[in-house]
Amino acid sequence: MALIDGFERLHDNLRISVTDRCNIRCFYCMPEGPIPFMEREEILSFEEIERVARVAVSLGVRKLRITGGEPLVRKDVATLVEKLCGIPGVDDVGLTTNGVLLAGLAGDLWSAGLRRLNVHLDTLDAARFFQITRRDDFGRVMAGVDKALELGFEVKFNAVAVKNLCEPDVVPLARFGRERGVEIRYIEFMPLDAQGLWDKSKVLLQDQMMEMLRREIGELVVIPDQDPRAPATEFGFADGIGRIGFISSVSKPFCLNCNRLRLTSDGKMRYCLFAIEELDVKGVLRGGGTDSELAEVIRETVRRKWIGHEIHSGKFVAPPRPMYSIGG
Ligand code: SAM
Ligand code: SF4
Repeated sequence: MALIDGFERLHDNLRISVTDRCNIRCFYCMPEGPIPFMEREEILSFEEIERVARVAVSLGVRKLRITGGEPLVRKDVATLVEKLCGIPGVDDVGLTTNGVLLAGLAGDLWSAGLRRLNVHLDTLDAARFFQITRRDDFGRVMAGVDKALELGFEVKFNAVAVKNLCEPDVVPLARFGRERGVEIRYIEFMPLDAQGLWDKSKVLLQDQMMEMLRREIGELVVIPDQDPRAPATEFGFADGIGRIGFISSVSKPFCLNCNRLRLTSDGKMRYCLFAIEELDVKGVLRGGGTDSELAEVIRETVRRKWIGHEIHSGKFVAPPRPMYSIGG
């Protein structure tokens, strides 16, 4: 039976986090100082991840995305990609990365069957890259992007939009996307940072960014026939060159169309980025549980799904795990 929740939403998309570790330290995600990362044995093995994915696919999941933390710091991640791409019934496997290790790994990922990459790129300015990520890796990311495009990957860029910081990057990123034939997706800053820095006044909003783009580049035209269940609302420029998207969880929440489930690297199943509760998959896996028992955990996660996050209400409580630990 398909995974349909109490609000008639069909769930066919599973995001799989493979690590909570990362090689950079974006301030809107991770703290700067020492981080109590999970121990190796707490993290699901590739075999365990593949088993959960197979069970999810037997329940109707069709799209998988590998994320983290930074998925490319997980040793031999291409082996997992290959396993996931080989599951009958999977239509699409994607991977979200900060790009730092991409130049070296893109070939292995391609050979493993991966074709779609989302690369996190907030700025084209090396100094601001350092300011945001606390690491000096801008050149490595750009080398990774070049390699991925050269190999033929379908690449999209994710840019987090923080007010009073990212305004100078909005237009140059869109111009870069137009030149290179890649879509830039601006993601409104969400309350998932480890340091509790978020508040509504720090979000650079979709409408503000659209205004800047219209003024500096040209009119934006909404792309027709978009998948209503995709989180990004996409636009093209009126001159026909380039495409951008907005993931506007704060100003235009898309919860009513949500089709996602999430598996954390330590084996918890979640129905929302912002969920407070999560269900234990690892205990079932490591306690000798059957596939039917795993399926029941997935179904129960879907049954419990709420109508949506309530960032705008006084009731909103940020989840106890920050973005890097959940899997963005
Ligand atoms: N390390 C990889 C990366 O950065 O792409 C994958 C994991 S990261 C948590 C996934 C995405 O989450 C990134 O593309 C980043 O843009 C986004 N992200 C992280 N913290 C965020 C926040 N507080 N608000 C909005 N997006 C955030
Ligand atoms: Fe690392 Fe991605 Fe978080 Fe940045 S957003 S610190 S790259 S996990």
